[in-house]
Amino acid sequence: MINNNKHAPQIQEEPGQNLDQLKQTCLECSLCILRSGCRQVVFGDGNPHARLMLIGEGPGADEDRLGIPFVGRAGQLLDRILVAADIKRDQVYIANVVKCRPPANRLPVQSEVDACLPHLKKQIALINPEIIVCLGALATRTLIGKNLSITRIRGQWHEIDGRRFIATFHPAALLRDPGKKKDVWEDFKQVMKYYHTG
Ligand code: URA
Repeated sequence: MINNNKHAPQIQEEPGQNLDQLKQTCLECSLCILRSGCRQVVFGDGNPHARLMLIGEGPGADEDRLGIPFVGRAGQLLDRILVAADIKRDQVYIANVVKCRPPANRLPVQSEVDACLPHLKKQIALINPEIIVCLGALATRTLIGKNLSITRIRGQWHEIDGRRFIATFHPAALLRDPGKKKDVWEDFKQVMKYYHTG
């Protein structure tokens, strides 16, 4: 795969560790209890040199079955948003804050997030995207700022360690409350402006 990521900061990879090796580390991980209750680790999906990374909460039942993030109902809605934004899913990279499905789709607890975060941080460093879209409150609080309200900060750019982060509502929230769709579309317009001119 050609690395067409011209603008992203060059972050040092850990010596010897590439994305496949990180995936292997994650497949063998048992740092929290989630692995014992799920079928498989859902590492991530997409272009390993993506300029744009989207990060959700954690795998649901469909993702746990198929081993790919965002393939259930919320994922299908995300796919439609990406098509509308003229962003090709196979050009971006999609991952989650936690890589193992929480039981009954509950939110991951803080200790689970803390256990998985080093994996996500390494994954971000290796993919080295310019833009990160946080899908939902958990990704927003984990990656942009602990006490932030997604309702208040969605659609605004945050520059952290040389990358541009933006938060928007999780697609599952749109399924529950379609009234949020127009806000998400406004947020994606910001993403498009930067992504398509970068
Ligand atoms: N919700 C998420 O946050 N991630 C997925 O992969 C699927 C649903």
